[in-house]
Amino acid sequence: MIPNLLWRCPLCFTIDALHQQRRWFTEDLLRCVYCHAQWSVIRRKGDDYYLRLLSPEPALGEKELPLWAWYERMKESFTPQPRPDRPPVLKPDEHIFLQAKSASLVVQEDNPEFFPKVKKRKEIQKLVYPFMRKVGKGALLLTDQRLIWQKDKIFSFWFSDLDSVYIEATHYLGLASGARIYKFKLNDSYLKWLTHLAHLASQKAGNKIFFSNY
Ligand SMILES: [Zn+2]
Repeated sequence: MIPNLLWRCPLCFTIDALHQQRRWFTEDLLRCVYCHAQWSVIRRKGDDYYLRLLSPEPALGEKELPLWAWYERMKESFTPQPRPDRPPVLKPDEHIFLQAKSASLVVQEDNPEFFPKVKKRKEIQKLVYPFMRKVGKGALLLTDQRLIWQKDKIFSFWFSDLDSVYIEATHYLGLASGARIYKFKLNDSYLKWLTHLAHLASQKAGNKIFFSNY
């Protein structure tokens, strides 16, 4: 799905504005609901996807570009914009940037914060990487200081504790924090979350966090 990659319009830069229309017998259409730009989606075997701009009238040499070129254009001039809403969980100097109403969290099964009743693994088993286990679905918020996952309780993943943030194929947004792994499954563009996180967290935590490519 192209909108998972192009999470903002490369022409008007509106977030979540692109929609892909599947067409069985001809090329898919990609549309911006905000500026009404339209592209056809071209798949070349053994090559990248290409987007051909149908409207507005393209400038010379900009009619058809590979997907990565549209992606680079989309990333240009990006700065995260705070949302106006202020849920009570926020601190006075904290602002919210992204939210997902339904985010599944998966953690290591021996994580006592989420599974306190799981028996301690025997010494020998500690050598084996612990299995991952689903905690459940909750709301996920990204602020300028942390990720907040909210189910019955509130769990905070402060930027200052993060070691790395990465995308696992197109299935998870992963965090490594305090020698533990956390994975979020979202119904949203993982690249959008990773890009926002990288911008916001590097402002707070400098270069100590490793981010996978975006
Ligand atoms: Zn647009």
